[in-house]
Amino acid sequence: LLSKLKDPSLVTDKALIGGDWIAAGDAGKTFEVTNPSTGDVIAVLPDMNRAEASRAIDAAHVAQKVWARKTGKERAAVLRKLYDLMVANADDLATILTIEMGKPFAEAKGEILYGASYVEWFGEEAKRVYGDTIPGHQPDKRIIVIRQPVGVVAAITPWNFPNAMLARKFAPAVAAGCAMISKPAAETPLSALSLAVLAERAGLPAGVFNVVTSKDSPSIGKEFTENEKVRKLTFTGSTEVGRILMRQGADQIMKLGLELGGNAPFIVFDDADIDAAVEGAMISKYRNNGQTCVCANRLYVQSGVYDAFARKLAEKVSAMKVGDGFEAGVSAGPLIDRKALAKVEEHIADAVSKGAAVALGGKPDARGGLFFEPTVLTGVTRDMKVAREETFGPVAPLFRFDTEDEVIEMANNTEFGLASYFYARDVSKIFRVAEALEYGMVGINTGLISTEVAPFGGIKQSGQGREGSKYGIDDYVEMKYLCLSI
Ligand code: ADP
Repeated sequence: LLSKLKDPSLVTDKALIGGDWIAAGDAGKTFEVTNPSTGDVIAVLPDMNRAEASRAIDAAHVAQKVWARKTGKERAAVLRKLYDLMVANADDLATILTIEMGKPFAEAKGEILYGASYVEWFGEEAKRVYGDTIPGHQPDKRIIVIRQPVGVVAAITPWNFPNAMLARKFAPAVAAGCAMISKPAAETPLSALSLAVLAERAGLPAGVFNVVTSKDSPSIGKEFTENEKVRKLTFTGSTEVGRILMRQGADQIMKLGLELGGNAPFIVFDDADIDAAVEGAMISKYRNNGQTCVCANRLYVQSGVYDAFARKLAEKVSAMKVGDGFEAGVSAGPLIDRKALAKVEEHIADAVSKGAAVALGGKPDARGGLFFEPTVLTGVTRDMKVAREETFGPVAPLFRFDTEDEVIEMANNTEFGLASYFYARDVSKIFRVAEALEYGMVGINTGLISTEVAPFGGIKQSGQGREGSKYGIDDYVEMKYLCLSI
């Protein structure tokens, strides 16, 4: 790994607590990080326990008080510097990301720039955490509303976007004047640590950002939710774990930001631009090898264009190149682990046993390991697992539908409500469908909706809170109202 980097010091095998880089956990335990493409061990990190998480919280608690007293402009300057450093080191950061996570290098670089965009955006927002004045309710009263940082924020992040999912939490927290302790996924801690290295170089004071590395996420999660110095928990991951954290935080009425699972419908109406819909499906379905929470999971295609769409999609997908993320032209890397591969196989087998046809792919890739063939399934129906569960892999299941009412009912028939997509041209229908979809985000004639300028987040069991946009800072500030009698 080190030989691939222009600046090898961006990789560290130490965790960061209160400004100290820590080489080994209290108990001397460690865990290995592997490259999912080759199975090679790329790093050995401290496997920290609850007591160490508690120390990180203490450090953040002390640092936060000082950080919060800085002006917005001072905090903005640090974030701007960090943004510049991320962009300047984008190739190295992307290399680290590809090695620990597997996504193609070009996608990894896209993720770094996407993560950096949140750092830039929230740095700018740091200066605009405005309050309000309200006309008094009595002649002698003057009412002022101020917004203050919530305090210490804990972040737990997943492996599918090791940089961006953390940057999206770190940036608004730090901009608002909070301090953060983070626990990256054990599969992909190196990207989080490289962000911490750069944050330190950008001048972020010790203790404002801490990275606890651990394989024992339940213990760390307990400390993050039960320690009363932590005022907010922000989590991106599965709905199942989100539920556990919510329960654990209930005793101290923990504030929560949750970005959980999705089960995105992708609807193609008869009047759609079919070629554009195929392009959108390629991006929405196969980006990150199907391993994003906003990936199209269920593709509903209206009868009039079903066969044409299926044919064109299969044609495009057949041109995808599976391989190691550093090989030229690769558009699909490995899946993250055996469990992920088994789930993809299970979903395909279930669909086929209930009558679906494999139009393309359908099996592990010939190169073995964690590689899987990009797959298209036709004749998919609502009794199959793919209709209800998130596959998190490169499988496009095509459902056929006839009417608008029918497809809205099917699309909304899920406990999830994160992203949705549809392709149509009729303006009235576009508004009807956009308003009827029970999702936090709707892509209309586009398969790519993520940007730092818009509020990312879900409804129903896909979570609460929003990341990005002018609303994103709200999750990290408390409102306080001052009532002054003159
Ligand atoms: P994914 O399917 O993305 O792995 P998870 O919800 O399992 O989703 O994991 C997301 C993050 O939550 C990871 O950092 C993981 O280590 C962490 N995690 C998993 N289980 C728990 C738990 N019980 N408490 C706290 N964190 C957890």
